This record gives sequence, C-alpha cells and structure tokens, in this order.
Amino acid sequence: MAGKVEGPAIGIDLGTTYSCVGVWQHDRVYIIANDQGNHKTPSYVAFTDTERLLGDAAEYQVAMNPTNTVFDAKRLIGRRFSDPSVQSDMQHWPFKVIAGSGDKPMIVVSYKGEEKQISAEEISSMVLIKMKEIAEAFLGKTVKNAVVTVPAYFNDSQRQATMDAGVISGLNVERIINEPTAAAIAYGLDKKSTSSGEKNVLIFDLGGGTFDVSLLTIEEGIFEVKATAGDTHLGGEDFDNRMVNHFVQEFKRKNKKDISANPRALRKLRTACERAKRTLSSTAQATIEIDYLYEGIGFYSTITRARFEYMNMDLFRKCMEPVEKCLRDAKMDKSSVHDVVLVGGSTRIPKVQQLLQDFFNGKELCKSINPDEAVAYGAAVQAAIGEGNEKVQDLCLLDVNPLSLGLETARNNTEQRAMTVLIPRNTTIPTQKQQVFSTYSDNQPSVLIQVYEGERTRTRDNNLLGKFELTGIPPAPRGVPQITVCFKIDTNGILNVSAEVETTGQKNKITITNDKGRLSKEEIEKMVQEAEKYKAEDEDRTKKVEAKNALENYAYNMRNTIKDEKIASKLQVAEKKKIEDAIESAIQWLDTNQLAEADEFEDKMKELESVCNPIIARMYQGAGGADAGGMDEDIPSGGGAGPSQD
Ligand code: ADP
Ligand code: MG
Repeated sequence: MAGKVEGPAIGIDLGTTYSCVGVWQHDRVYIIANDQGNHKTPSYVAFTDTERLLGDAAEYQVAMNPTNTVFDAKRLIGRRFSDPSVQSDMQHWPFKVIAGSGDKPMIVVSYKGEEKQISAEEISSMVLIKMKEIAEAFLGKTVKNAVVTVPAYFNDSQRQATMDAGVISGLNVERIINEPTAAAIAYGLDKKSTSSGEKNVLIFDLGGGTFDVSLLTIEEGIFEVKATAGDTHLGGEDFDNRMVNHFVQEFKRKNKKDISANPRALRKLRTACERAKRTLSSTAQATIEIDYLYEGIGFYSTITRARFEYMNMDLFRKCMEPVEKCLRDAKMDKSSVHDVVLVGGSTRIPKVQQLLQDFFNGKELCKSINPDEAVAYGAAVQAAIGEGNEKVQDLCLLDVNPLSLGLETARNNTEQRAMTVLIPRNTTIPTQKQQVFSTYSDNQPSVLIQVYEGERTRTRDNNLLGKFELTGIPPAPRGVPQITVCFKIDTNGILNVSAEVETTGQKNKITITNDKGRLSKEEIEKMVQEAEKYKAEDEDRTKKVEAKNALENYAYNMRNTIKDEKIASKLQVAEKKKIEDAIESAIQWLDTNQLAEADEFEDKMKELESVCNPIIARMYQGAGGADAGGMDEDIPSGGGAGPSQD
C-alpha cells in the first residue's frame, strides 16, 4: 500500500483453485516450487481439531474433513452475502457460509473444537501467507513486498478486499494488476514492436472453475484493457465432472451399484479423473485405477482422448463464444489481433488449443510459458519493476475500469431512478472525473449521493457500491445549488468519491470509504492479530513435530545401535538391559502421547539421553581405531551420542 518496504518483491497469482508465486532473480523469473515440489499450490485452507493446514496439505484431507476445508474464497471476496452469485455458489460448497454484519459473507468452520467465523479476506490472506512462505524458503530470507493479480473484471470492492487480504497476511501489496496484463507482460509483448506501433493481444484464460477472455492493446509499453468477457463457471472442473459422470455410469453397468450418492467415492473418482484428464493432454489414452472405490469394489478402466473430447465438445465450443463477444465489444476484427496468449491449466487441452487456433485462422498461439504459470511470471516481472530493476524498467502499466461508474439521479419529476455515468467502462486508470449536479426541490437541505457500477440505465439494475449524504446546502430554489461530484480511481483500480457544495463560498466535502461490506480498520487490525496468532500456533506445531521426531529418531536409532552385534557384544548385560528398558519406555510413552507439548518431548529426550549417552560414549572411547569408524554410522545423530559432540 503506502511506500516501499525493504527486501525482495514477489509476484503472486492468487487463483480460484490454484495459486502460484514467482520472483525475479539473476535477470530471469523463477516460478517457485512448494514443499511438495509443485509449482502450483491449491488455494485451500483447512481447519482440524489440532491444526490449520494450508495448500496441498489442506487439499489432501478434504475427503475426510469436507465441512472445514475452505476453497473458492476468490468467489466470495469483496461480495455481499445476498449477491446472487454467492447464493448460487453456496449450493455447491461443502462448507457453511452465513450472512455476517453488513451482509458480509462469513465462512463457518470448527477449529480446535470451537466454531469460528472467517471472512474470505482471511482465507485469502492465509493462502497469501503460504505463497510468501514458499518464496521465503526459496530465497532464504524474509519477503515483505508483493504484486498480486486479480481478474480484469474484478470491481472496486473485490480489489479492495484483495488488498485487505494482503494487509492481514503481513504483506506489503505494492500493486494489484490484472491477470491478463500480467500474462502479456510475461511474454514481453509490450517490447515486440509492430509497424503501427500498436499491438492487440487476446488473452484466453481457462482455469479450474473460471474462464476469462480479455483484449488488450499495448502501445509503447502501455497496457490498455479494451474488453473482457468470459464465464464464471466454466473450466477444468466441468471437464472433470463429465468424466466422473461417464465412469459412474460405467461402474453401475459393471457392478450394478450406484456410487453417485457417496461423496467419498465420488471424490476418489474425481481425483483419478482429473489426473487422467491431464494425462490426456499429452497422450492418446489414460487409465483409471482405484483399488477400493465403493463397498470394497475396485475400479479399473481406460479412456481415450477422442472419447474425452467427445464428452466435452459442447463445453469446448462454448469457450469460443466469449472470444467473439470480446472482439465485438472492442469493435475489433479477429484479423487485427497480433497475439493470442494461452493462460490457465485447462488451455493445455489440445482440442481447446485447436479450436482457438482455427478461430484465428491457424495463427500460432503463445504457449511457450507454462499457461498455469504465465500470470505469476508477469506478476514477478512487475514486482521487479517496482524494485527498480534496470533490466525490466522500461515498462509501464495501464489498466482500465471494467464497469461504468456513476451515481443515481432523479429524472425530472418521475420516480425513475437513473444511472448517470461519470466514468464509462474501459476508461484508462488512474482517472478522475468531475460533474456538477444540483437539487431537485426548493430549499432542499441535503442530497444523497449513491454510487453505482454497471451498464444499465436504471440504477436498480446496477450494483450499489456505497452512499453518503451531503448536508449543509444553503436554502435556494431547485436547480440553483452547484454540487460538484468527483470520482477518482487510483492505479489499483480503487474508487474514491467526493462531493462538495459550492454556493455562497460554503464548501462541504465527503469521501466514501469502507462502505459496502468492506472491512473496517479495526476489523483488519483484529484479523492481523489473529493471523499472528495462527502463525504462532503454526510455529508451535512445527516445534512440537520437530521435538517429537527428534525423540522418535533417537529412540529407534538407539534400538538399532544396540541390536548391532558389534556393539551389543561390547555392552555388559545390565547396561544393555538398562538401555533397552529406557528405549522401550520412551517408545511406549511416544505411542500414547502423540499430542504432547514440545517441552515434554524434549524432557523425555533428555531422560533417554541421560541413560544411553554415558554408556555409549564410554564404550566408544574404549573402542578406538577401526572399530570407531564402523560405529559412527550407527550412533544416533542429533542425540549428542558421538564423542565429537559431547
Ligand atoms: P485457476 O482457475 O485457479 O487460475 P489454473 O489456471 O491453475 O487454475 O487451472 C487449473 C485447472 O487446470 C485444473 O482444472 C486442472 O485440472 C487443469 N489442468 C492442469 N494441467 C492440465 C493439463 N495438462 N491438461 C488439462 N487440464 C489441466
Ligand atoms: Mg488463473
């Protein structure tokens, strides 16, 4: 937000289903692998009786813990509970969402046996923390600064809420940029010149659950979004579902059993189908192998690419409609498009690529950067620009507002509430527009400024962003007072509206802030503290796991050590028994105290060491020569048993 904080800056693609992080280093972008070795991390957060899990760890356990595993936070962020899209998405989520204060959607989970209400901003902040940690593990230092991407169609409130998620996570979000812009930057399309100097780029982003098409114009390093289109519920998961349905039928035919009402079996099948789908992007046939799918029955089958394409053909074709719409909206012919960029994991599907290429009359598509990494790649480049990196310096960003912004005005004497647009959609931002309004009745003391976004002429069909009252208008006949309203959008696409009345030298000014289900300063503050609490808990848990593992390692290594003939033969019977008893007692204690605290594990460790170490060490000193070399490998490491460590 404000200013620059020391240290490296990373680029984060905060996706609906997956997130990805990149960093600029040694004059290139690195897309960073997480602790599982994956370049993409599920945007999942799970809560259990004992801990909070992020990313892959959260996704792995979703079948066991469906109601407390949260995903799709991006579909909730910056929206109201009563938003029709939230209402319809909710039907498909296994976790519970309720209306909080100010119509804010709140996710209800059980964490450590207690019910907790969590906002979408907090869930996203946890995903951001995970991405930050992935980067920190790679860079070996603390990361504070980040560029975060959002869909081009995200409105003011969704962008603000994403910024808030950044604050809660403890990141300094230097900039929010549009995902298609990031993808175009990744390809350096701003640098490749054309004869006219202007470049038109179509970004085709087909992800896990959403589909976005954007048309950008790039000129002299300046990006402008000409139009956006898409489908908020079309993506890889739909293709998975088609395959799942296909195999549910097959299972029914083969086994006379219906698994469609069994969530666990469906989940297993879906995971296998998703894997098969990815395989089919590079091979002609894939296999499904599930040992126990339902009632102890296994399921083994194959599927060809042709079959997969056939069952999804209508969906693939549907992907071409927004492309046409986008071109239509931008009043551009497809022959004027210089580059077509593939983004999103689902664009790896050969049929999708082929349909798109055919639509553009055989044009080569930009797909040399992994489509599911292109957005994070561009964000990392943008982050490097923020750092003043010379190699990438000659680049400047420009976006547009995705929806028209205006206020409600009364049309003459009628009751019709009309939308008066101040900033039309697709205006380049940052921008500022002013317009003078007046009163509609005599001696009217105040006016209500209601700010809307949308393309419809009547405000009731548009989306109310916020409102405020402007009072203190001096008595005057209708139409006389001059009220200047100013709309201002900053580089992050965030809107500020102010109004002032300027009659008889009197001024009044109000700015809209924090309306519309946005988090207040206090709420953010509270969430930042919560995030710190979570962090402390995570660290506690790590410490606990480490202490437990150290004890377990030591105990088992010691058991192996004394089983070794070479060593056992040198021990007195009583000594050997003493060590064995201590080990057995420690292992037994471990079995029944898996959830003990770190210091309890440490105490137990000391207890065991105090029995074993003196005997082993004395024996070791006595051994000497060639034998010592042989023993080194057997003596537990980390327990301080070797002479060099004593
Ligand atoms: P997001 O929507 O979160 O931005 P991504 O762009 O990462 O997600 O896309 C995720 C989707 O891409 C998933 O549905 C996944 O199954 C799909 N996907 C990933 N790799 C492949 C592949 N090789 N072939 C087909 N689909 C793939
Ligand atoms: Mg994406």
